[in-house]
Amino acid sequence: MRNTIATRPLFELSSPGRRAAILPKSDVPEIDLNSVLPSSALSTSAPKLPELAEGDVVRHFMNLSTQNMCVDTHFYPLGSCTMKYNPKRHERLARTHGLGDLHPFATPQDSQGMLEILFELQNMLGEIAGLPAVSLQPAAGAQGELAALHVASAYFKDKGENRTKVVFPSSAHGTNPASAALAGFDCVQLAPSEDGLVDLEDLEKHVDDQTAVFMITNPNTLGLFEKDIAEICKILHDVGALVYIDGANMNAILGITRPGDFGGDMMHYNVHKTFTGPHGAGGPGAGPIAVRDFLADFLPGPVVTKSESAGETTYDLSIPPKSIGRMRSFFGNVGILLRGYFYLRTLGAQGLRDVSEHAVLNANYLKACLSDVLPVPRGEYCMHEFVASAKSLKDNNNITAMDIAKRLLDYGFHAPTVYFPLVVAEAMMIEPTETESKETLDAFVEAIRSIVKEDSEFLHEAPHQTTIRRPDEVAAARNPLLNWQACVKD
Ligand SMILES: *Cc1c(COP(=O)(O)O)cnc(C)c1O
Repeated sequence: MRNTIATRPLFELSSPGRRAAILPKSDVPEIDLNSVLPSSALSTSAPKLPELAEGDVVRHFMNLSTQNMCVDTHFYPLGSCTMKYNPKRHERLARTHGLGDLHPFATPQDSQGMLEILFELQNMLGEIAGLPAVSLQPAAGAQGELAALHVASAYFKDKGENRTKVVFPSSAHGTNPASAALAGFDCVQLAPSEDGLVDLEDLEKHVDDQTAVFMITNPNTLGLFEKDIAEICKILHDVGALVYIDGANMNAILGITRPGDFGGDMMHYNVHKTFTGPHGAGGPGAGPIAVRDFLADFLPGPVVTKSESAGETTYDLSIPPKSIGRMRSFFGNVGILLRGYFYLRTLGAQGLRDVSEHAVLNANYLKACLSDVLPVPRGEYCMHEFVASAKSLKDNNNITAMDIAKRLLDYGFHAPTVYFPLVVAEAMMIEPTETESKETLDAFVEAIRSIVKEDSEFLHEAPHQTTIRRPDEVAAARNPLLNWQACVKD
């Protein structure tokens, strides 16, 4: 039987007068608050807080924490999100006293160590991208996109050009058109193609001297490398436009190829994905952008600079001369940036390349093992992830991608991304990452094989073992009830 005390709200467990600690009666004389504060500032009743013993509170939060799946508890093949294991070494280093306790208002003079780390990180990210100018400001990939589009906008304005359009393929992540619209551009979407790659003829029809930026994820969201990327970039450059590489899939190409080398002009990193910042449920993140030299003056600031004088090295913060301004407070989401820095230093150049090779190997292994039950409609080989289709299971067995995803939770696996990208029917986007062993991948394959043999009615009701079964995801996003009292009323 389920212990319901463990999952009830603290307010319901409250009992008048219950306390974590009972202190002896104070022998300090009470002061008359009315003599020191205006009556309008004084409350007439005690705050409505639950009254509980320490054990009630600790058990409540410990139990809540175990109802979630995370990378530390479960295999988490959530495509496009790169939920890889976050090594504890980097957690420990990011928390060291000199870094974790540094006050954001400390002067550059008093933050030389931190600034040196961030300066080195800028250089490493520039090197991995093949795009030398870096700003660590943006707090997530989506904010990096927005920042880079503002950079593009400022660049064209500076040249006296008025370009209004941002173009992207139909497999683009939703944040791409959202960022373009927020930055004031008109969005133009290419038609879906047979092979899942950008169709050059279709691209040529959609770009002209009004095109500011072409946004492309490479490898794309189908897990396929855009083999014509150099040609694509040439088409854009020939009309004077810029190419933006959405770097969310960098995990597949680290140390193998670079966005700057295949023609990209700007990109973002998702440090929390590619470089093991712990993330999930919307945060935290860091989305530095890297751009070509001729765009450096427009970057969001401050950026970290280094100067040498009389044998002394000094690090400082500076705003680029034509900067679009700040994207967030201070110098970026330092907690996540530090984890990325330690990850890069731990692995080194060869280690980074190994990451991508193993991520691609794991994805192809899983793809091959599942190909008879979950075929992949586009691409013979994949990069670090693949998009399988449950369409034949739906047609023949009445089992949907959602059914499999939900039932996997009962088997102790986090679900893959489902129904994205939209161009694949009953899509299941699976990204195992390099940190999983063959044993884990084999167990996942066994779970899927066992699920697809189950009764479809039983699967429609899955998950059967979680506290929450099938929430209405649309209502949850559109009409969130974030207050326990609002839930109780219903
Ligand atoms: C995750 C992701 C983004 C957005 O990044 P956030 O850091 O979540 O804002 C953009 N594009 C692709 C392809 C992604 O996978």
